[in-house]
Amino acid sequence: MQKYSEMSKEQLQALKKELDQQYAEIKAQGLALDMSRGKPSVDQLNISMDMMDVLSSSTDLRCETGVDCRNYGVMDGIPEAKRLLGEISEVDPEHIIIYGNSSLNVMFDTVSRSMTHGVMGNTPWCKLDKVKFLCPVPGYDRHFKITEFFGIEMINVPMSPEGPDMDMVEKLVSEDPAIKGIWCVPKYSNPQGYTYSEETVKRFARLKPAAPDFRIYWDNAYSVHHLYDDEKEQDFLLEILDECAKAGNPDMVYKFTSTSKISFPGSGIAALAASKANLDDIRKYITVQTIGHDKLNQLRHVKFFKNLDGVHAHMSRHAAILRPKFEMVEATLEKELGGLGIGEWTTPKGGYFISFESMEGCAKKIVAMAKEAGVVMTGAGATYPYGKDPKDSNIRIAPSFPPIDELEKAAKVFVVCVKLASVEKLLA
Ligand code: PLP
Repeated sequence: MQKYSEMSKEQLQALKKELDQQYAEIKAQGLALDMSRGKPSVDQLNISMDMMDVLSSSTDLRCETGVDCRNYGVMDGIPEAKRLLGEISEVDPEHIIIYGNSSLNVMFDTVSRSMTHGVMGNTPWCKLDKVKFLCPVPGYDRHFKITEFFGIEMINVPMSPEGPDMDMVEKLVSEDPAIKGIWCVPKYSNPQGYTYSEETVKRFARLKPAAPDFRIYWDNAYSVHHLYDDEKEQDFLLEILDECAKAGNPDMVYKFTSTSKISFPGSGIAALAASKANLDDIRKYITVQTIGHDKLNQLRHVKFFKNLDGVHAHMSRHAAILRPKFEMVEATLEKELGGLGIGEWTTPKGGYFISFESMEGCAKKIVAMAKEAGVVMTGAGATYPYGKDPKDSNIRIAPSFPPIDELEKAAKVFVVCVKLASVEKLLA
């Protein structure tokens, strides 16, 4: 396998001719494929369908404390749901508030509340000249959209397989009181599928922020989302709340989770875990905001999953559907691009994404070419704050949604686009 960068101009020109033809043939197929968003497939949604039957008009709809879940009340969530989400989040139910259907919504709310009312008695962020967030990159586009929406300045922090560059995080957080938060997807990160190492989590817990209202936004969206059943093939993440408490920083973290990719996205349940002081601060706001979230949905989830074992068994069924898709995409990338020196990609053991790094300056072109050939990918740049990937090289691959035969076609289109864009760059 000869690296493209070692080819002569003549070789590259001949290759380009070949690839142009392949690309024209693909375009002529009139494909309409979608690899853009990390949504579960229809098959995955189907495995949760029995949840629709656990509640009926004859079900006892009281929670374990006897409260009628059909009525108002129980702002924190019913105890059995707090227990279930507590198990998923690896925290004591005392440290959990159950919300509505979306953790992203909870994150938005958390930033919004900090803007208007401040964090635990500190100055509301809207009254400050400058508010900044650290953003490990590449990262989750919707996190960045929230901070952009509120006019918060975002600072890129490079990711590695161990997590964010902690030297940079420690330095910036300890020196600049305008830095109020950092977005983290600590397990099977979006988009690289990396899991923060124990050392990284410990360094997070030991941070000495200049701002008393600095918080780690720990979005543990993929906590139980393994692709492999064997524990040796699964990533392990140290529990942050406990580490922060041990390090004398009990209030420094908000931990978010939801069942979106366990049961139904958009119709799951979301939760926030934090210290008692943080939760009490937040409750002051929630009591004004709502008389209680959807307890019937909480009950439905508890009756369906029962406990963490039930969740793990269910996640293994998701994995059986997702695993072949990830493996097929990775095998296609390896077969078609391995050794060519024109791209690198991650091989996650969980989560929803594969991250691809093209040659510098090629990502936008690759995504545009794929689109023209009928394959929609996540927009290039989306994985960076303000949609600006400084190297124009990161592409998020989302293998979950399409059926595997469509995904296979999409992967083949993608590699041709990568090759063609790379050859054109080398010839330019
Ligand atoms: N957090 C991450 C890292 C995600 O990738 C996603 C969805 O893709 C979400 C949060 C959305 O979660 P929810 O459906 O609970 O709002």
